[in-house]
Amino acid sequence: CGIVGYVGSGAPGGRPQGVVMAGLARLEYRGYDSAGIAVVTEDTARVAMSKKAGKLVNLEKELAERPLAAGTAAIGHTRWATHGAPTDANAHPHLAAGGRVAIIHNGIIENFAALRAELLAEGIEFLSETDTEVAGHLLAREVDRGLSLADAMRAITRRLEGAFTLLAVDAREPRTVVGARRNSPLVIGLGEGENFLGSDVVAFIEHTRTALELHQDEVVEITPDGVTITDIRGLVVEREPYHVDWDA
Ligand code: GLU
Repeated sequence: CGIVGYVGSGAPGGRPQGVVMAGLARLEYRGYDSAGIAVVTEDTARVAMSKKAGKLVNLEKELAERPLAAGTAAIGHTRWATHGAPTDANAHPHLAAGGRVAIIHNGIIENFAALRAELLAEGIEFLSETDTEVAGHLLAREVDRGLSLADAMRAITRRLEGAFTLLAVDAREPRTVVGARRNSPLVIGLGEGENFLGSDVVAFIEHTRTALELHQDEVVEITPDGVTITDIRGLVVEREPYHVDWDA
């Protein structure tokens, strides 16, 4: 129900996690039943993840007891369950490729059953009952084949049907967050040496009021120094930012 992403050049330390947790708190008004966060670090092969059913305070407690490594980029999610009960296992992020990749999703992937059958036939093991997890394993399959995270996202969105805002991180690209959307919102926030993603500008309005809309069927890649928007075939889209001038 809420989505936040962050990457920054001066980021090592608590900033990625702090920005994402604050963003999730700003999105709480939308309602949710579970929350989770994934952090990417420069020097590990796996994404660090924490997720909990219930209110954000449950996730905060979990993070206090078992802190995540300080990272360079982070993504966070509040879930409104549509496929699978609101449990810790069904909360997002979902890991794939042995923990190399993490994905979060708002919306419904209508053709998940067929995709799940295809992945099960390949021997992929599922850890949740969500429709979302198919997107994670599809993405993992593409990055394992050697595609960049952004190319992998473009490849999988061509196969997904329904409504989605998706964000993903890859431990091998610790200074990148990739997003995609169809029939569900995603906004980009432009900072200095840092960039943001949110399902709503309130997710990052404390940090920047310069924003860009991601349009239908587009993919965005944010790094500390830039933002690249393409359509799902990979054609680069130029778009002017706007100023968010209302009070949040
Ligand atoms: N369909 C996904 C799930 O049930 C995402 C729900 C949401 O939008 O939060 O996990």
